[in-house]
Amino acid sequence: MRAGHPWVFARSVREQNREGETGELAVIFDRNDRFLAVGLFDAGSPIRTRILHAGKPVIIDAAWWRRRAADALGRRQGLFDSRTTGWRRINGESDGWPGLVLDQYGETLVLKIYTAAWLPRLEEIVPILAAERRMVLRLSRNIQKTAAERFKINDGQLLRGEPPDGPVVFLENGLQFEADVLRGQKTGFFLDQRENRREAGNLAAGRGVLNLFSYTGGFSLYAAAGGASSVCSVDISELALAGARRNFALNQDKPGVARCPHETIQADVFDLLSENTARRFDLIVLDPPSLAKRETERAPALGAYAKLIAGAIARLNKNGILVAASCSAHVPAEEFFGLARETARRSGRKFTELKTTRHAPDHPATFAEAEYLKCVYLRLFQ
Ligand code: SAH
Repeated sequence: MRAGHPWVFARSVREQNREGETGELAVIFDRNDRFLAVGLFDAGSPIRTRILHAGKPVIIDAAWWRRRAADALGRRQGLFDSRTTGWRRINGESDGWPGLVLDQYGETLVLKIYTAAWLPRLEEIVPILAAERRMVLRLSRNIQKTAAERFKINDGQLLRGEPPDGPVVFLENGLQFEADVLRGQKTGFFLDQRENRREAGNLAAGRGVLNLFSYTGGFSLYAAAGGASSVCSVDISELALAGARRNFALNQDKPGVARCPHETIQADVFDLLSENTARRFDLIVLDPPSLAKRETERAPALGAYAKLIAGAIARLNKNGILVAASCSAHVPAEEFFGLARETARRSGRKFTELKTTRHAPDHPATFAEAEYLKCVYLRLFQ
């Protein structure tokens, strides 16, 4: 805690002066009864307390919360111009708001909470976070039941402003995207991949592009706008692919997008890559969902990544580029990069590593467990 780690697990609490209710402030003392930290108590989670402040005692009141919100906003000052209206305002623990994420999509804010501790505090924090915008609440699956039964709060509930009268459209580097803020994954869009999408777009000119695990076509749109000769989006969800087609329709004013043939294939990528086909591409994006949700899944996840990367490499033309990402927190970045290099070596083809990337600046990660996103760019010769 003194070194800044934001979690206290239930098993490391030696003694409590009383039971404590979810959402209360817990004051933590060390074994010599010296003040250590203060955090949000969650009686139902193995992460029993999420630290808000460590060091010297402080008074946590509305002014303190307001300062914390302003600090998070300050860290993002100047990152985005008017061509990007979708970005993360608050990234949980790493911004001092444990278990809470706040994403902006144009005039709509989406507040997503991952601990029930925030439920009794919504009235207090919403006015501090919302400014003048509409705000939608999203709940992680594990707290939905508690929220409904104990607090009458539901996933997708409107916290402020008028309900959206259709899909929420926002801008990312001048491209228009829909976000399904009420039902979509995470808060409706994968804002964390913005920088990799832009980089892939920069590499796409004249290339035939395959976007594996495309969701609503984020990488596909950037590739088309960047001058790709064709784009193929693959996802297991037809709903996601319908979103990708709508996003292409939204951007027909961009010459690259208007010119680029876009094909959508509903398939399981693992099956698709195991098929024997002569079809090859010049740029392949591989952005699977988290394959290791817990530590015990790490080894199988590594096997799955190797399979995906090998399968993608086998479909790359001469001088083709592979953009391979991993969002599994239990697979460390260096391990993933090493695996990608090793798999490329095994393909027997000559290759070079163009670059590796980590978290986007609006998705800071200040402790190991918060680091999940990494991406490697390989160019395969021959
Ligand atoms: N690259 C996307 C985000 C990908 S999220 C973006 O930039 O927005 C992961 C996607 O993988 C989800 O859309 C999910 O539907 C899809 N998915 C999960 N398992 C899959 C599988 N086995 N085959 C194909 N798609 C899958």
